[in-house]
Amino acid sequence: MLEMNVEQRLQEIAEKLSKRVDTLSCFACGTCVAACPISRATGAEIYHPRRFVRTTIEGQARRLLETPELWLCASCHACLEHCPQKVPVSELILELHNLACSLGLAPKDIAAEVENILASGWALAPSESVNKRREQLGLPPIPLKNRSSKDLVKIAKATELTKRLKQIKERQEVQAAEAGGDT
Ligand code: SF4
Ligand code: SF4
Repeated sequence: MLEMNVEQRLQEIAEKLSKRVDTLSCFACGTCVAACPISRATGAEIYHPRRFVRTTIEGQARRLLETPELWLCASCHACLEHCPQKVPVSELILELHNLACSLGLAPKDIAAEVENILASGWALAPSESVNKRREQLGLPPIPLKNRSSKDLVKIAKATELTKRLKQIKERQEVQAAEAGGDT
């Protein structure tokens, strides 16, 4: 059922994009790759923002949900800002992230990062050593646990994020067990 909903949503996105994008000019353009910091760092053959647009318009977005490259996006929106057609590439990628998460397909590092945020309330949790250095500089300590973490946990439960994290972990465990069995 969930898989079907995702397929349906991907189809809607593909239809919307194909109405909005002049595909011939887009497939011959490439301005977004020049603007994208990740493409510059990895090389366009590894990461190319237009690939997400093209693959989605071609009705193949389901396989994007399982590619590790999907998670390299820094959400800087440079692609959108530079695109002559204002194709919402970064928004498309964000939606693909959400759909991948809904199927438990996010990489384990992403799940671990979210768990850290839920546990501490910080995106980058401070450590005892950071507080020691702050003390040496005459600065007050940063609480290791942010007051908002309780609220975040509530939100995660209400939005089923906790359930998704569990799915992602279970899927990773199955994959690890399968990989172990192959050796
Ligand atoms: S900049 Fe826009 S039109 Fe050009 S390739 Fe990227 S998405 Fe397509
Ligand atoms: S939002 Fe993602 S795809 Fe777009 S330029 Fe930034 S890193 Fe590249």
